[in-house]
Amino acid sequence: MDFSYKYAGNLYLNITNRCFMACPYCIKHKWENKFRGNSLKLDREPTVEEVIKSIGDPTKYGEIIFCGYGDALIRLPETIEIAKWLKSKNIRVRINTAGLANRYYHRNILPELKGLIDVISISLNGTNPKEHNEINRPMFKEESFDEIIKFAKSAKEYIPTVVITAVELPGLDVSKVKEIAKSAGVLFRSRPFLDEYEEQ
Ligand code: SF4
Repeated sequence: MDFSYKYAGNLYLNITNRCFMACPYCIKHKWENKFRGNSLKLDREPTVEEVIKSIGDPTKYGEIIFCGYGDALIRLPETIEIAKWLKSKNIRVRINTAGLANRYYHRNILPELKGLIDVISISLNGTNPKEHNEINRPMFKEESFDEIIKFAKSAKEYIPTVVITAVELPGLDVSKVKEIAKSAGVLFRSRPFLDEYEEQ
């Protein structure tokens, strides 16, 4: 049960296994909740203190990223507390999210992240509400697609770098997602589709 794990010179925080989506392609299924030698299955969610303890010296890493087999924004108060601690040490902080937190909390949570998060990566695997719902099985069904784009646009006001990402899933027109990101005025990055388990 790892609350954090290293990858490519960065440290990733795995603070929850709860998620706004239930993507059938999620590597946690294929990789049995492991990620490159780390066990990301949580029997319970860690406290803020436990996460901070698992980080150790944060200055060793280029960037610290909230990204595990779950969505950190589902634990907003804890994410904010951990990010505050990281920022007090001048660490670059990123969050990878499904972009559904505003809908989940029924309010705009983005102002609460201002000054704490440097980069937000918002995954958008779908080019329209129907396709997005079919591919990702999000909590808010077909309403999720527009909600995510709205979230990305709003994030620009509070977070210096906003990126929409898409996984190169078979059948997904990633170039269309890139266009959507461009229209929203945010950056775009495609991510490889991980099929085979990689130990490192
Ligand atoms: S949003 Fe990410 S962690 Fe959550 S189910 Fe989808 S791929 Fe898995």
